[in-house]
Amino acid sequence: MELKIGHLYPDVLNLYGDRGNILCMEKRLQWRGIDVVTTGVPIGEPLKASDFDLLFIGGGQDFEQEVLLADLAGAKTAELKAAIEDGIPVLAICGGYQMLGAYYKTWDGHQCDFTGALDLYTVGSKERMIGNYAFACDELGVNVVGFENHSGKTWLGPSVKPMGTVLAGFGNNGEDKTEGARYKNVFATYSHGCLLPKNPALADHILKTALERKYGQIDLAPLDDHLEHSAHDYMERRLSRN
Ligand code: GLN
Repeated sequence: MELKIGHLYPDVLNLYGDRGNILCMEKRLQWRGIDVVTTGVPIGEPLKASDFDLLFIGGGQDFEQEVLLADLAGAKTAELKAAIEDGIPVLAICGGYQMLGAYYKTWDGHQCDFTGALDLYTVGSKERMIGNYAFACDELGVNVVGFENHSGKTWLGPSVKPMGTVLAGFGNNGEDKTEGARYKNVFATYSHGCLLPKNPALADHILKTALERKYGQIDLAPLDDHLEHSAHDYMERRLSRN
C-alpha cells in the first residue's frame, strides 16, 4: 500500500512546526510497512488533486495568508473544492483551516476572500487566543490536546459540524465552545504542529480514512504509543487543573 500526501503551500504556511503533522503521518505509515510520498504544492505550482490521497494545509500569519490569495484564486480554488466534494481527506490547521472558509476579515480590516469550500467564515479580533488547549472529539470519543494561536474567530454554518467541544482554551471563537470543523473527509482545527504526535488516535483515524478511500476496508496494526500517550495525558492533566 502507498499513500500520496499533497502539502499545500509548504513555502508560506508552516507555523509552530505544522509540518510535524506530516512527519507523524509518514512515520506511522512507515512503521506499518506502508509507503508514503509527500509532495509540496507551493505558490506557482498547479494543484492536481487526483495525484494525491490526502491533502495537508498548515497555518500562517495574516501576512502569509494575504500573500497566497492571488495564487489560490481561480484554478486552485476550483480544484480544491471539487476534490473536497469528491471526498479527498484533508487535514487543515489554523490559517489553512480559515482558508477553507468563505473569507477571513483580519482584525485591522483586510478582507481575504478564500475558497468557500466549507460553510464557515472568520473574523479577526484584537484579542489573540493563545495557549495549550483541549477539546472533546465527538467522533472519536477521545479528548484531543493541542496548541492554538489565532486572532481569527471562526463561525460554522449549518452544513459543517465542529470537530469537538472545547474543554480548556478557546477553540473556534472563544464563545460557543466549538472547535474545528468536519465536512465530508475534511478535518480542520486550530491545533498546530503537536496535533497528531500528541493524539495518535486522531492521526490513525485520518490515515485510515485516506487508506480506506483508496483500498477499501483495512485494519491498521497497533503501534507502541506509550510515549505519545504520556505526553497527551500530562497536558490533559495540566489543563484540567486550570
Ligand atoms: N493569521 C490567522 C489568525 O491569526 C491564523 C494564525 C495561525 O495560523 N496561527 O487568526
